[in-house]
Amino acid sequence: MPLQRRTSLLTQFSATVAAALLIVIPLQAAPAPSDDPAADAAMSTITADSIRATMRFLSDDALEGRGLTQRGHELAAKYMASRFEGMGLQPAGDNGGYFQSVPVRSLVTDVKKSSLAITKNGAPLALTSHVDFIIEPDPVRPDISVDAPVVFVGFGVTAPDQHYDDYKSIDAKGKIVVIAQGAPNFPSSIKAHYSAGEVKAKNAADHGAVGVIAIEDPVAEAIYPFAKFVRDLVNPEFRWLNKEGQPNAYQPQIKGVAFLGIDATKKLFDGSGHTPDEIFAGAKDGKLATFTLPLTAKIHTVTESKDLHSPNVVAKLEGSDPILKGEYVVYTAHLDHLGIGVPLKGDAIYNGALDNASGSATILEIAQAFARMNPRPRRSILFASVTGEEAGELGSEYFAHYPTVAKHSIVADINIDEVFMLYPLADVIAFGAEHTSLENVIQRAAKRMGIVESPDPMPEQTVFIRSDQYSFVKQGIPAVMPSPGFKSSDGSKKAWDLASKWMDDTYHEPNDDMNQPNLDFVAAAKFAQFSFLCGYYVAQDPQRPTWNKGDFFGDQYAHLAQ
Ligand SMILES: [Zn+2]
Repeated sequence: MPLQRRTSLLTQFSATVAAALLIVIPLQAAPAPSDDPAADAAMSTITADSIRATMRFLSDDALEGRGLTQRGHELAAKYMASRFEGMGLQPAGDNGGYFQSVPVRSLVTDVKKSSLAITKNGAPLALTSHVDFIIEPDPVRPDISVDAPVVFVGFGVTAPDQHYDDYKSIDAKGKIVVIAQGAPNFPSSIKAHYSAGEVKAKNAADHGAVGVIAIEDPVAEAIYPFAKFVRDLVNPEFRWLNKEGQPNAYQPQIKGVAFLGIDATKKLFDGSGHTPDEIFAGAKDGKLATFTLPLTAKIHTVTESKDLHSPNVVAKLEGSDPILKGEYVVYTAHLDHLGIGVPLKGDAIYNGALDNASGSATILEIAQAFARMNPRPRRSILFASVTGEEAGELGSEYFAHYPTVAKHSIVADINIDEVFMLYPLADVIAFGAEHTSLENVIQRAAKRMGIVESPDPMPEQTVFIRSDQYSFVKQGIPAVMPSPGFKSSDGSKKAWDLASKWMDDTYHEPNDDMNQPNLDFVAAAKFAQFSFLCGYYVAQDPQRPTWNKGDFFGDQYAHLAQ
């Protein structure tokens, strides 16, 4: 699974993953006969040994967890550039080099000087910072306060396309809005989109709100506990800055954002006429009422900020078709991870072997396979080893806003994040493929590899918005994140058990390193071959990928890619 967006507290996932256990296991498909010996030869250069070796280096303690703006990530970026150079790929970053410098702002809330006070009928609720709540730093203003009445706006979602509006019968103007995690039960990717903190904050501002309090619920708590959010505060939050120096996702009208843990959430609803259990059940079922709370809240935020830079690494392989080589298939994989953090069992280095040394190794294998082809693929292929994903997909958003090749020349993004190489590969999930003609490419590649495509088994996890492909989608570029699925080749649910145990015990922990059990590099190589084929098919097709007619994301964003 890709990132739990740390900076985007409202993005937290909101329902059970148990449904994934109910996947029907189809019979294993046989690989289709070869239709392209050149592709077969290129694919055969992708090896388990090579993936293991790259992962071993990138996740070594010497790279200190590749934290954003830290030395370890800078070293890793230089390593990626060296590898691309060695394969004969051309630089495609700034000023003829391999690096695109991404301006970022680091943000830390000054906990001692900041405060949240919630008052019920004149009496204060007893709340403790870092136990009951955390306050998000303000991306622009060093010292900002808001003091206002409080209303509960359910999920805080306005979705005209789904004929749904949480703000329909409540006035949020001048209020601090309390917002639950997740979104109503829309189709998977659309639910994911409306669950995004950025979308909810903008919607709150559009409805006149002046502050946001995000609440926790038991299902979200079981998946990524509030205490882990508190632990993650050891690292700053980050935003990327546009050419005018403005941070991304900044809503000036919102003058305070707080996130409550589960106990504080219960206190919030006490005496409101709505029990916490009722709210929690509603959040789980995708059905929430909205109402005024008998509360006022004051959020005072003091923020320390620093403006820094971090590199995306960008390299290209020129295509062989005189016309199509002016178009690009982009592969992305984030290189950053969480750096050095709170020690767990004496280990403070968050190595990020699966997250995402695995994806980084995968795009290197794919780059090498393409580079050895003769003739080369018809379209050009661009590889972007992006920074700042763990801080909210910063490097990919920056690249998608300011691509180093013409935006309209990018025909697709294929993003690789957290290759679940814990068991033999039997299936793939292609997050976002259902929105574009990339679905055909996925199916063709799966058939060729003798694996099957599975539907997203856990839409509640909003995976579609939680990695770098979403940055491209928001710029109107067809994008997909293929990922190993959770089926076991023997028909048991062993794969799912291993994956869910990994999510509980290893995801974003220091033990996501090369010593973890069950790493199956043969599965990783097979997945890399599959991912190579996806890009290859896009590169060879005379037609560029298209948004499906009437698609939610295509209708909203496709014009941005013109
Ligand atoms: Zn991550």
